[in-house]
Amino acid sequence: MADTPDASSSSASAFGPISSSRKAAAYPKVVDRLISEFANLPGIGRRTAERLAFHVLKSPEAEALGLARAISDVKKTVRHCRVCWNLADEDVCEICRDGSRERGTVLVVEQPKDLIALEQTGMYKGVYHVLMGRISPLDGIGPSELTVGGLLERIDDPAANAGGEKVQEVILGLNPTIEGDGTGMYLAEELKGRSVRVTRLARGVPTGSQLEYANKAVLGDAIICRQEMR
Ligand SMILES: [Zn+2]
Repeated sequence: MADTPDASSSSASAFGPISSSRKAAAYPKVVDRLISEFANLPGIGRRTAERLAFHVLKSPEAEALGLARAISDVKKTVRHCRVCWNLADEDVCEICRDGSRERGTVLVVEQPKDLIALEQTGMYKGVYHVLMGRISPLDGIGPSELTVGGLLERIDDPAANAGGEKVQEVILGLNPTIEGDGTGMYLAEELKGRSVRVTRLARGVPTGSQLEYANKAVLGDAIICRQEMR
């Protein structure tokens, strides 16, 4: 019994306040950095960020580096199409390069994800123009913050359009929200006097909703039943 370490005295030294200079961070710095990076992502809170970081720590090295490489590749290779501002892995996107598309018809959308939603309907064979947002005076976003200049150039100069074709029709495919409507009206006004037909998607898409969430049938109808802008 005499050789048994005195549990109470040894544990007493392991507890209690420590001097701040000796206090370790909760995680090693690199882990903390990974958690912070995850927490910067939209919709990811601190707790989820920690869970993701631990998932990465547990994953086989090849899998974790695959994620890192995918992020790196997307930043190095993906850019905006020179003609329509869609996401592209070359100077001009796949849709603009496709000679079987009717490149005289240009459907104007706010974001690349709207383009994807419309493309998934399989109902549209023209090309697009991505504005990269909508006019929103309250957020300080005017036409010059968007790709409006590029759109007008495509209409005024066929050489700036996909395949060098003259634009015959512009379809406004903005979200049916107050700002989307305002942007549409601004564009319709700008396009007046240019020899181009201007239509907008039909309102099968409920007001206040977003194109990316509309179902395929509704979007398909919206394309076929597009209306003249007056
Ligand atoms: Zn393009």
